[in-house]
Amino acid sequence: MAGSEAAWQAAQAGIPVVIHEMRPRVGTFAHRTGSLAEMVCSNSFRSDDSEQNAVGLLHWEMRAAGGLIMEMADAHRLPAGGALAVDRDPFAEAVTARLRAHPLIEVVDEEVSALPQSGHWIIATGPLTGSGLAQAIADEAGQESLAFFDAIAPIVHFDSIDMDTAWMQSRYDKGETEEERTAYINCPMTKDQYEAFIDAMLAAEKTEFKPGETAGYFDGCLPIEVMAERGRETLRFGPMKPVGLTNPHNPTEKAYAVVQLRRDNALGTLYNIVGFQTKMKYGAQKEVFGMIPGLQDAQFARLGGIHRNTFINSPTLLDAQMRLKSKPHIRFAGQITGVEGYVESAAMGLLAGRMAAAEMRGASLPEVPQTTAMGALVTHITGGAEAKTFQPMNVNFGLFPPVSDAKGGRKGRQVRYKMYTDRAKADWQDWLGVRQAAE
Ligand SMILES: Cc1cc2nc3c(=O)[nH]c(=O)nc-3n(C[C@H](O)[C@H](O)[C@H](O)COP(=O)(O)OP(=O)(O)OC[C@H]3O[C@@H](n4cnc5c(N)ncnc54)[C@H](O)[C@@H]3O)c2cc1C
Repeated sequence: MAGSEAAWQAAQAGIPVVIHEMRPRVGTFAHRTGSLAEMVCSNSFRSDDSEQNAVGLLHWEMRAAGGLIMEMADAHRLPAGGALAVDRDPFAEAVTARLRAHPLIEVVDEEVSALPQSGHWIIATGPLTGSGLAQAIADEAGQESLAFFDAIAPIVHFDSIDMDTAWMQSRYDKGETEEERTAYINCPMTKDQYEAFIDAMLAAEKTEFKPGETAGYFDGCLPIEVMAERGRETLRFGPMKPVGLTNPHNPTEKAYAVVQLRRDNALGTLYNIVGFQTKMKYGAQKEVFGMIPGLQDAQFARLGGIHRNTFINSPTLLDAQMRLKSKPHIRFAGQITGVEGYVESAAMGLLAGRMAAAEMRGASLPEVPQTTAMGALVTHITGGAEAKTFQPMNVNFGLFPPVSDAKGGRKGRQVRYKMYTDRAKADWQDWLGVRQAAE
């Protein structure tokens, strides 16, 4: 996805491109074909609503930028209500044919197993990056900066947390500044609530690993339900321990257990539930996590999961132009940068292709405004996200600077989302330099 879009954008800007693709010679457990831009699982680009949905907005921005992936997805669209579903094989074949037919693009069927030492490169090898290259990246960036699994704790929109029940406090009020002393959001549970929560978690439907995925967990990221299976009290002595905290809404009563959420982005609009990486199915997660006092109306920016996924710690490794700081002739794009999903990956390819092409012409593109879906994503991966807890992320409005006059409720949300998308479209057209032409 990302490599195809990057190549297209650079070639359209007049730069000759060589695509190195290891398939079909070297396969992965998820890909079936030798086509570029193969959709490995679902055939959906998700919502196509560019007024109320962040991924729909990303579609809009990519179309406005002449994106190949969106053009081909539109050409091979299947009926799916408000979603953009794609006829996957004709789509991938059409992307491949367009790239192979481009006079400035050459496709070489070979695996790249080392970091190139010269030239301009974009590494867009995705969640199933070949092992030789993955090792070379780890050698360059440090083992701790390359993950092979994402162990994802759910991420919640701050404005959907009930702060009449929850409160902000770090354990034992630790920290030099007021901000540090109130870094966590705490959700208290009584004994009955805790017991019911454990029962629901143990009974919830879980996803099994697919063939080829490894079931080995790192010790630091055991799924929450696996911890609960080890004993009903395990969580009360682990991530849900109630010590060092006083509930200002009810200071005389000690909570039996406490769920903590930690800030997940610089804007403070997203919080992750600490230690709650999980293999519960999405529907079950919403039900079980909705039992946590304070999260009864939680809106999730992403639900939890554990998947095979190669990705780098982009916030520490990449500069704002998506270049590897230690080897700036190499850019990264796509899922390996810590975005998640077909569309987000292609979007980061679009930016990387344009940035590389500009650099080769001796220019530099201005920063993409964070108010756009493109800008929100690239800002997140290149510095906006917390590096320590960095996990792959779909595009969502929590990554955007808040719009003023945020109001609650469904109606308020619709108004707010429209404000986000109107602002994004205008700013994106400005960035592309096409606003005047459009008006
Ligand atoms: C099992 C699985 C299921 C998924 N399901 C979904 C889903 O339903 N919806 C969704 O939106 N996203 C899904 N994803 C995420 C999805 O992979 C990405 O969203 C998207 O395909 C990533 O795009 P990309 O361009 O970064 O990587 P890819 O599309 O994977 O492209 C990377 C390319 O690089 C090639 N490559 C890898 N290493 C080398 C090398 N060393 N040398 C040469 N070529 C190499 C690969 O063959 C591949 O063609 C899934 C991922 C996995 C692993």
